[in-house]
Amino acid sequence: MALKNGREYIESIKSLGLEAHLLGEKVKSLHDHPLVAPSLRAAAATYDCAHGEETRGLFRVLSSLTGEEINRFTHLHQSTEDLKNKVIMQRHCGNITGCCFQRCVGLDAANAVFSVSYECDRKYGTAYHDRFRRYWAQVQRQDLMVDGAMTDPKGDRGKRPKEQRDPDMFLRVVERKPNGVVVRGAKLHQTGMLNSHEMIVMPTISMKSGEEDWAICFSIPTNTKGIRQLYGRQASDTRKMERTGSDVGNPRFGGQEVMTVFEDVFIPEERIFLNGEIDQSEKLVERFAAYHRQSYGGCKTGVGDVLIGATALIARMNGVERASHIRDKIVEMVHLNETMFACGIACSAMGHATQAGNYEIDMLLANVCKLNVTRFPYEMARLATDVAGGILGTLPGLAGLDDPEERQYLEKYFAAAEGVDASERMKVVRLIENLVTGPGAVGYLIESMHGAGSPMAQRIMIGRQADLDRKMDRASKILNI
Ligand code: SF4
Repeated sequence: MALKNGREYIESIKSLGLEAHLLGEKVKSLHDHPLVAPSLRAAAATYDCAHGEETRGLFRVLSSLTGEEINRFTHLHQSTEDLKNKVIMQRHCGNITGCCFQRCVGLDAANAVFSVSYECDRKYGTAYHDRFRRYWAQVQRQDLMVDGAMTDPKGDRGKRPKEQRDPDMFLRVVERKPNGVVVRGAKLHQTGMLNSHEMIVMPTISMKSGEEDWAICFSIPTNTKGIRQLYGRQASDTRKMERTGSDVGNPRFGGQEVMTVFEDVFIPEERIFLNGEIDQSEKLVERFAAYHRQSYGGCKTGVGDVLIGATALIARMNGVERASHIRDKIVEMVHLNETMFACGIACSAMGHATQAGNYEIDMLLANVCKLNVTRFPYEMARLATDVAGGILGTLPGLAGLDDPEERQYLEKYFAAAEGVDASERMKVVRLIENLVTGPGAVGYLIESMHGAGSPMAQRIMIGRQADLDRKMDRASKILNI
């Protein structure tokens, strides 16, 4: 089976006929829509890289299921080398798109479901693992993009799923049939859902006795009857719909999120990978989250490189690149960015084989990685704002460059260092704006805070993994107490 290129991928997504509620309208020709198209191009980059002369070696790998060459975005990791290469690949994608390219969620979900389904079968005699292997082999053969759907609306945060006034606040089974189940609920913050062929749905918290109907994991095509998509807004997103689109900042690429509603959707038995085994839900949540926390050590540093580059460029354009305090701020940005990358690589290098045979990251280090990501991009955005100056918030529209009357003032008063083109300087300002306060800030900042779990979730995991008893023992031995 041939690996898709970006164009073939886009055609395959268009053929699904997906629809979404967007700005108060039901949009059918979704993938030509100016709000959606940049995100589709970003996802397509993950396909094109499997064909690029310099990138194909990194993006292609042999499947452990089929023995065929596949895109690494569908790979079940077979070694710590694979785990590291995943992070390096994600950094590259962040470098070339400057945004969320969306395809990692399904990859992380697949690796988590692969090992949990195996362990569940061993404990309960279920048949999930072989079922998942067959399913994922098809995903690899067809080079599909898969969304991983975890976050439920959760309703009253002080109550369990079964205590909610509306039990649909956590996606659940509402009917059991001989050949499958019917599910109802919603998943929020679905990055890449509209650009995916398939989705893997997982529980969002560990379930307890009496919550079997909420302990459900399955896959389903994104164009299945009963699924509705509500498009998420991003700051300044309608700039993408303006005539020139020149004030967006990132001219070609962008991320997207949707809310996905399941209106009594039938899930056939062969697509179910967990169904009421409550103790397995915790493992699934933790493993998926840890893989995605590792992912942030790649993608966010890739986007961080773009922000650092734009900040260094604007410093040069402003004629202050040699000022020691400016250089120090840029060095600080590099230090923060590389610290996150180091964590992504470290949790990969310290990974281990699961019982099922695929490789899992070191949980403690993956959580440390993500906790850093909840802070460092914010500090990097602060430093970029500092270096770029107040123009970041007040720059006139770039469309003015098309108007001879306005252009003369823009060129005269936005000139800076010798030889710098004022219009190019304005574009760099817009790119920084995109990442620190525009649509790109959804992926670079808000997602860094809450994606793959909010900071407290990482603190809880770090607390659990810290092995304080061992550390106390070390201290006691030194003191001989
Ligand atoms: Fe991939 Fe990063 Fe987007 Fe998650 S946030 S899907 S890791 S690019």
